[in-house]
Amino acid sequence: MDYTEIKFSPEELNRYNRQIIYQDWGVEGQQKVRQATVFIAGAGGLGAPVSIYLAVAGVGRLRICDNGTVERSNLNRQILYTDEDLHQLKVVSAQKNLKKLNPHLEIDCFSETISRDTIDRLAGNADIIVDCLDNFETRYILNEYAVRKKLPLVHAGIEGLTGQLTFIHPPHTPCLRCIIPEAPTSKIFPVIGVTPGIIGCLEGNEVLKYLIGIGSNLKGFLLIWNGNDTDFYRIEVAKDPNCLVCGQRANAV
Ligand SMILES: [Zn+2]
Repeated sequence: MDYTEIKFSPEELNRYNRQIIYQDWGVEGQQKVRQATVFIAGAGGLGAPVSIYLAVAGVGRLRICDNGTVERSNLNRQILYTDEDLHQLKVVSAQKNLKKLNPHLEIDCFSETISRDTIDRLAGNADIIVDCLDNFETRYILNEYAVRKKLPLVHAGIEGLTGQLTFIHPPHTPCLRCIIPEAPTSKIFPVIGVTPGIIGCLEGNEVLKYLIGIGSNLKGFLLIWNGNDTDFYRIEVAKDPNCLVCGQRANAV
């Protein structure tokens, strides 16, 4: 495609050149990410690398939701923030800092709690949802929304030096309830900053591939990262016909 036929400015073509020259990406891929809206649920350890890499890749619009403020104890892993952001709303600091990384980015910020009453408004017209949360109660709300809207949902979780990742795309894949039927006990858990860095980058990878239509997404498998032994492995996961969210009994609930 001739560069003069597209709407990117010379500055943008220069900014994205190293990905545009990737044969499966091209200007067409750049246009796809530019037109995309991604809902990022959570702006913490996972949300930081996810939003940073989607921003620099040129995703057109990010909708970021987090009801927290930046605390000093966040800074070992939430690399979107610095000491200057302490006690500020996370989404406000996220917007400011992401705009520095890519001024072409549109960011909708929501310092709100994700609930069954708010999820439709918060997710808006997103093309894909990224789970950057730290609790399963809210993850299940995202999952129900994804199943209802048949939207892709990139799920990830981390603890210590371990993490997990899967790509959920209802109705074709198992949903989060199929894979993890009961929420683990909520607690303050340890996190080494590299872990959300690794897993968050993988979430971003899943999002970009989906938006552009290259490669394959991690459907039907839960990828486990064991940072202690520097090892990844996959667990095959299946739809549960009795799943309360996506199974035959779903309508009865
Ligand atoms: Zn299910």
